Amino acid sequence: MSNNTLFPSDAHCHLDAIINAHPEQKLAVAAIKPLDILKLSDARANNQNIKIGVGLHPWYVDTDINLVNFKVELEELIIKYKPDFIGECGLDKLKPNFDLQIEICKLHCELAIKYNLPIVFHCVRSYNELLQILAEHLVPKGLVHAFNENNEMAKQFWKKNIYLGIGSNLMNEQSQLYKSITSMPIEQLINESDAPYMPYAEQEISTPQNCMIYLEKICELKSINPTETIRLINQNWTKLYS
Ligand SMILES: [Zn+2]
Repeated sequence: MSNNTLFPSDAHCHLDAIINAHPEQKLAVAAIKPLDILKLSDARANNQNIKIGVGLHPWYVDTDINLVNFKVELEELIIKYKPDFIGECGLDKLKPNFDLQIEICKLHCELAIKYNLPIVFHCVRSYNELLQILAEHLVPKGLVHAFNENNEMAKQFWKKNIYLGIGSNLMNEQSQLYKSITSMPIEQLINESDAPYMPYAEQEISTPQNCMIYLEKICELKSINPTETIRLINQNWTKLYS
């Protein structure tokens, strides 16, 4: 693999991590808070390999958010900065204000539909709730980042044009993802690092280059050819983010 210029694209990382990417690597760089779009927009102007998002991560959903104002402000940022996708947004049952998280997630979906943009979800212990939102909001396409569920759940998301971000959860043999990956179609999978977060093993921080490790793990578990798999997964990245 070492003298192959193909490198797996990263479906989900954050701004701090892009300096550690492989030079050939395409990256989808998500926001944590809406105003992150200012720095993300500068980064995109300097790097043709990156796509950028706008959104509010569910960990930062707070009870002082006014839903009407929030949506107006998010929409103004979309119009002004023309992000390539909406996100990261989503649901996390381990964090507070879950009902409000649902309302904010719906607002992101409405804007993804209105501006015909892909949408990137964070989803922890909330897969059924997210599917319920997607049943009511027909988003054009999207990604559940750090997917960690079984193939039946994967199929439900594929019916909604939602790709699965495959990252460090795959390195844990106890994870639902590890146990289910052989049944999942390669057409739905894209590697992701979530860098600098979600390191695995002894790493202190992760980098977008971790995507190669996760790619090789997919190939090992599915007994498929790495070079061809990188090509397919990079096509998935392009279908999602173009
Ligand atoms: Zn993230």
